[in-house]
Amino acid sequence: MNILVSGCCGHIGCHLCALLLSKGNSIIGIDNLSTGHPENKTLLLEQLNLRFIEHDICQTLSIDEHIDQIYHLASRASPRHYYEAPLETAMANSIGTLKMLELAKEKNARILFASTSEIYGNPEMHPQNESYIGAVSPVGMRSCYSESKRFGETLMTIYSRSAVADTRIARLFNTYGPNMAFNDGRVIPNLIINSLNNESITVHGKGMQTRSFCYVSDTVRGLYKLMESDYNKPVNIGNSQEIRILELANIIKKLCDSDAAIEFMERFEDDPDKRCPDISIAEKYLGWKPKVGLEEGLRLTISWFKENMMIP
Ligand code: UDP
Repeated sequence: MNILVSGCCGHIGCHLCALLLSKGNSIIGIDNLSTGHPENKTLLLEQLNLRFIEHDICQTLSIDEHIDQIYHLASRASPRHYYEAPLETAMANSIGTLKMLELAKEKNARILFASTSEIYGNPEMHPQNESYIGAVSPVGMRSCYSESKRFGETLMTIYSRSAVADTRIARLFNTYGPNMAFNDGRVIPNLIINSLNNESITVHGKGMQTRSFCYVSDTVRGLYKLMESDYNKPVNIGNSQEIRILELANIIKKLCDSDAAIEFMERFEDDPDKRCPDISIAEKYLGWKPKVGLEEGLRLTISWFKENMMIP
């Protein structure tokens, strides 16, 4: 198949491209290179069946060849990056999603939108299932991301209901693994880099907030299975192994064999207290569940960071 991947140079995008190429597909990879690990582009350019186009998805894209499927991943996804560029983030998920849907319509291609657990906000329901409508502030620090992803889901649903496009919606929970950018700013790369450099490990608040971390190979397998399925309602893709951030910091410190001290910092505004996916829909309709446990995934990620960053 001929598959377009927007956000191909991002952490999830580059792993997804590797999976799709391994299955014999050709890829058109789109990215504006605003975030993502710079090496990801180099890796992609070495692939024979991948054509890279540097492009901002908020602008119209004209493609001559046919397209069978579109994976629409392009967006800043780390709080650090979307705090820095809130307007670009909001536009990528609204105007950018509209442009991708129009392309899907023109090419008669199936389109998958990478939505997020952020659409649940600071949840009152725990764990979160897909019928929970969320507790989201429209004016909070995270709203540029959470509200635009919600609007992106709305656009997908409008196109689907009117039979204009064949849509899939994945709600991705925290994903981690090799190829994350060193300046990503999210908790796992930050804590690994702090630990390997023996510098203070920055834990926000008292570290009592929870997250559930999914290893990237599991996430991209979930995206692939969703795209190939007949299920067109939102699906949570995440690992339901929930952990407090302080406990995560201690595990990473131990796995890195680090003497770094833990430094408690002020929590960011709007930081959700807990996150854990209910993945029964994915299990039932996609036959998918994660295979890589947290400690195994962290060991693989730490090895990659050790090999790829310069340790002073
Ligand atoms: N966090 C932390 N130290 C860091 C980065 C993040 O304690 O260096 C916390 C952050 O406040 C949040 C959690 O870890 O409670 C997950 O943050 P991340 O930015 O990875 O993703 P989020 O799930 O908040 O989008």
